[in-house]
Amino acid sequence: MASKLAHAWSAAKKTLAGGVDSPVRAFKAVGGNPIFMVKGKGAHLFDIESKRYADYCLSWGALLFGHADTKTVSAIKKQAAFGTSFGTATELETALATEIQKAFPGMARMRFTSSGTEAVMSAIRLARGATGRERILKFEGCYHGHADSLLVKAGSGLATFGSPDSAGIPRELARLTTVLPYNDEKKLEAFFKKNRDLACVIIEPIAANMGVVPAAKGFLKLLRSLTRKTGTLLIFDEVISGYRVCYGGAQHLYGVSPDLTVLGKIIGGGLPVGAFGGSTQLMSHLSPQGRVYQAGTLSGNPLSMVAGKSVLSRLSKKFYAGLNARAEDFVLRAGRILGKKMHLSVHQAGSMFTFFYTENPPVDFSGVRRTNTKIFRRVFHGLLRQGVYTPPSAYEASFLSTAHSQEVLEKTLDAYKHI
Ligand code: PLP
Repeated sequence: MASKLAHAWSAAKKTLAGGVDSPVRAFKAVGGNPIFMVKGKGAHLFDIESKRYADYCLSWGALLFGHADTKTVSAIKKQAAFGTSFGTATELETALATEIQKAFPGMARMRFTSSGTEAVMSAIRLARGATGRERILKFEGCYHGHADSLLVKAGSGLATFGSPDSAGIPRELARLTTVLPYNDEKKLEAFFKKNRDLACVIIEPIAANMGVVPAAKGFLKLLRSLTRKTGTLLIFDEVISGYRVCYGGAQHLYGVSPDLTVLGKIIGGGLPVGAFGGSTQLMSHLSPQGRVYQAGTLSGNPLSMVAGKSVLSRLSKKFYAGLNARAEDFVLRAGRILGKKMHLSVHQAGSMFTFFYTENPPVDFSGVRRTNTKIFRRVFHGLLRQGVYTPPSAYEASFLSTAHSQEVLEKTLDAYKHI
């Protein structure tokens, strides 16, 4: 008789495209069938066969206090009883925005969306509308959601123009995006010598979508100075790093201020959300004040706003010291265990981390691509068997939450010993 999991997978494939609503969930990168979860509590997920997993994916970094956090759930319940969507202005949006401004003072004005993708897409449109320019620059290995202008890869050879990285993206649109290697100062300088007509540059200041790869401080400073000199807007995509690495995000950590910041994940407390913001002057280009159109039926959704507020109002500079120290200790000890068995580079930023199976710490996507993904798959399944769920792709970050008690972490360390 087929197991419940096998049955669920077969039923999903008959209804959903490829059986999933987001490709990475299909486990293609690691092999085997995806796990169907039914419940989360604290640091743990439970699948439909009642197996428990210590979760280090945490809804791709969205959950800072773990699953079904009591305060977040109670805020959602209270709001749900008052209504789930009004399609009108609410004070809940102002309340969350005010909270965000405490940590991100550069977001003097902001706007909420329903996803990170939407926020990025809107920020790019705003940059194009405000500058009157069309070309944009991004970096290899950074992910900014699935908007057409950003699903673009570097053109071949020395080509400045990008080409589509997915079927369905017009070549003419992809040509407006240039893709450069992350952390390569020389190529960045050479590029800006010849190209002074960009609307914006978008970057994950601490990349977390090729595994965790922080930008070199010099690289971000150079980027800030070149963008300023050429009237190019600088967008920091802090959808992951925002409330993950410290209070104030990577921009605070590096002391580099972008023109526009994009947030998501944690700011919705596990509900759908995105936000983008910048100076009052820049944001005034958005409709209804300005001529850049941007909208959303569920933007600023009441449930997302109260869930986000419940999370963010508990955060402060001090909050991160404890969580980050716990993560550092855990990562160091897990790294020692794995390092005895295989080549390893450990990358950590705040409470997110990646174990790269290589001797040479990657600083860009070409380095990440050279890491050993066979070993990654072995470790992934070795952990999964023992009830530890990590992101099912070698090119992702793992996360810790405050619900990951020392007891949970010790058990996970034990699992690393038995891979
Ligand atoms: N930007 C970054 C840095 C992300 O990691 C993601 C998603 O993982 C996005 C944007 C897109 O966000 P969403 O999946 O909410 O559309």
